[in-house]
Amino acid sequence: MSRLRILPLGGVGEIGKNLTVVEADGRIVVVDAGLRFPTPEMVGIDLVLPDFTYLLERAAAIEAIVITHGHEDHVGALPFLVRELAARSTASAPPVFGGALTIAMARSKLEEHRLKDFDLRELEPARVLELGPLSLELVHMTHSIPDSCAVVLGSELGSVVITGDYKFDQTPVDGRPADVPRLAEIGRDGLLLLCGDSTNADRPGVAPSESSVGPALLQEFSRCEGRIIVTSFASNIHRVQQVIDAAVALDRKVALVGRSMRKNFNIASNLGMAEAPDGLFIQPREIEDLPDEKVVVISTGSQGEPLSALRRMANNDHRDVQLHSGDTVVFSATPVPGNERAVNETIDRIYEIGATVITAKDAPIHASGHGWQEEIKLMLNLTKPRYVMPVHGDHKRLRLHSELAEAVGVDPARIFRGRNGLPLEIDESGARFGEDIHAGVMYVDGVNIGEPDDAALRDRREISADGIFIVVATVSSDDGSVVADPEVIFRGVAFREEADALVEELSDLVEDTLDEASAAGNREAHLIEEDLHEAIGKFVFQRLRRRPMILPVVVEV
Ligand SMILES: [Zn+2]
Ligand SMILES: [Zn+2]
Repeated sequence: MSRLRILPLGGVGEIGKNLTVVEADGRIVVVDAGLRFPTPEMVGIDLVLPDFTYLLERAAAIEAIVITHGHEDHVGALPFLVRELAARSTASAPPVFGGALTIAMARSKLEEHRLKDFDLRELEPARVLELGPLSLELVHMTHSIPDSCAVVLGSELGSVVITGDYKFDQTPVDGRPADVPRLAEIGRDGLLLLCGDSTNADRPGVAPSESSVGPALLQEFSRCEGRIIVTSFASNIHRVQQVIDAAVALDRKVALVGRSMRKNFNIASNLGMAEAPDGLFIQPREIEDLPDEKVVVISTGSQGEPLSALRRMANNDHRDVQLHSGDTVVFSATPVPGNERAVNETIDRIYEIGATVITAKDAPIHASGHGWQEEIKLMLNLTKPRYVMPVHGDHKRLRLHSELAEAVGVDPARIFRGRNGLPLEIDESGARFGEDIHAGVMYVDGVNIGEPDDAALRDRREISADGIFIVVATVSSDDGSVVADPEVIFRGVAFREEADALVEELSDLVEDTLDEASAAGNREAHLIEEDLHEAIGKFVFQRLRRRPMILPVVVEV
């Protein structure tokens, strides 16, 4: 008897790191391999990935990896996943499928990781591929990046649609709306399961069209007398195109600032998805040569990312662009949840410099790439799924998406609100959740990936909060007596001067503790270190009201 298993390893109960495993008769197709960015508590962690151990253990069963679109929360973990798969598996890594832009962006990403010879294949929408017991088809959708696709996986039991990120934009900038006829056809043929984007399940109505942003940008630009600096997601090619069009209309030159802004525009223009008249672009270093009213800068940094071009400008630390009064910085993006603080800080620094800021609160210069409630209902009504599993959202939005499904008449018993690691199993007798595999996360720390090491993170938090005291004590291996003055080193401790004043007393304390240990016949280095840890910790807390990390080192000579 045939059985389908849909196992989300990320993206369900959170926004970020989407990865869904679809299994039929022991064969696997992976849909998306995304990442999320760390929270401030994850000190020193660069990226967070879904734990894909499940896939590494079944590497030989993977028929393909399909990427719905080029956003980091869908493709960001791909280099790590294919690298680990290639290392584990004797067979070559599975092929990766996606639309033209998605594949071009994935290729550039793999190259950045120095990963070559992976099998990346463009798949045109509407072409059907056989992948073992599953068939694969992409359906063209609209989103805040071109080439976003829904994934249709056919099986003996019926079809599964994973929508990817979508909105039903009736007037997209490239004139290619979502393939509504195909979705309706899938619905008429009888869809087994719909796994749909829940991002905007809390917003009543219909999302504004991306093409409504262009005129609003033009209107705002035409009021600006000085330079215009626009920031948006570098991957939002149609937004960048509309900024370019507005600049052309106002006879301004354009500088693309920020590595990913230039890279993505190049990739898109090579594919014919973006264009600019000859002579429009100037190099960032030429910005200062032109009169202010002749310049539009398009910059990365809409999320307040610490190393981004805009953040550097706001900190007066950008090589080519020094902000000054008269400049207008236009945020053509809204902060992704979690980035609000960094964005607000950036905005305030820009005001401090004397420039003006326009955000999406001031004018309709941003449109979300995710459909609102009426669009989620439209998807449900077009595809008429037997079962519904909301994905791509936190638990609140998953719940709201379920309510929308009920509102359009889906039987509540056929709506499955899951979580990462909980597989939905479907066979001839119905659908139910299977055994939880407890999907966790993996951290990228520099170039290494691994399990989250709680101790390492706790250490980093302690050090980052209150600093570190290192005490080196040298004792005789014969009798445990102190043979040299203890050394006390501290780093990152607030109230440096007070800490300085403590060093002498700390040395005495260390000697006393060592004497006591010696007198008590305590000769084990690690036990002495424990004594030191306790004594120093208590003392430092009494004096500084802080709990820095205490690292005693006992050296025997
Ligand atoms: Zn997404
Ligand atoms: Zn997206």
